[in-house]
Amino acid sequence: MWDSDGSRNNAAHKAWRVEVLDRDGWSCQLQHRHCEGRANEAHHLVRPAVRPDLEYDPGNGVAACPSCHKVETQKQATEARRVSNARARRPREQHPGLS
Ligand SMILES: [Zn+2]
Repeated sequence: MWDSDGSRNNAAHKAWRVEVLDRDGWSCQLQHRHCEGRANEAHHLVRPAVRPDLEYDPGNGVAACPSCHKVETQKQATEARRVSNARARRPREQHPGLS
């Protein structure tokens, strides 16, 4: 599924991107600060690393401008780190019958 260089330049990804952009009228749905307004990229709401089955689901995509896409991708990377740290630190759950 992934090219050797790590890019997702395949037909399925292109079709997904166009479907998402057409649905959202090629206007950015993320609207962060510095939003450029006009979208030319599709952003995954749930990262394909988390849900590979949703990678080409149009419901898992929103139209994004390059500026917002960058912000959102960075946010997801931070969130992914935070979640994996929280998981590592989570204390063992108590036995339900012992309280
Ligand atoms: Zn934007």
